Amino acid sequence: MENAPPDLVRGPIQEERLSSPCPVCGRANLVSRSVPLDLPYFGEALQTTLRCEDCGYRHADLLLTRTREPRRVSLRVDHPDRLNARVARSASCTVRIPELGARMDPGPRSEAFVTNVEGLLHWFRDAALGAKALASSKRARADAARAVVRLDECTEGRRLFTLILEDSTGNSDVLHEDAVREGLTPEEVTHLRAPEPTIELRDLRTGGTQPEG
Ligand SMILES: [Zn+2]
Repeated sequence: MENAPPDLVRGPIQEERLSSPCPVCGRANLVSRSVPLDLPYFGEALQTTLRCEDCGYRHADLLLTRTREPRRVSLRVDHPDRLNARVARSASCTVRIPELGARMDPGPRSEAFVTNVEGLLHWFRDAALGAKALASSKRARADAARAVVRLDECTEGRRLFTLILEDSTGNSDVLHEDAVREGLTPEEVTHLRAPEPTIELRDLRTGGTQPEG
């Protein structure tokens, strides 16, 4: 979302010139802008944009500021009508289809989005096609091809499946009257947490410059 529609803005927009250098051109002409929003399905959020007035560098982020109890939302997709059920997926949500062994984890670059059940199937299909193209063995390629066929059967309403969203911030939902919502235990939340990207200190060391010991 580059510029939020005016009807979603719920508070004053704040702009501030920063004294830190631009990560691209190094000049100190960065402007930070934050816009409080009230989003459909996700509630309160803060859109932040960093813009360099010299080189045009831009970095935008959308933070969902509403937090609810960690929860699991599941929907048994046993009728083609249910492919149209709306899905709000926050950046901290894990999406699973256990019957297919399919799983979409939150990651550092994931974003909140609103789609429907069919849209999620397309996402998984694209991922399976990518895996097929990159497969290093005949077997891995066959597995990925089989996943594509099964996802197509789901999309065409010929295969039943269960869609499960698990979200530590409770911000994800399947908007259907038969969706089942239940709280997650602390153990389940721990298993959901995506591993943080870390840099091991030893990776930064270059040969010859380190003291022994
Ligand atoms: Zn710049």
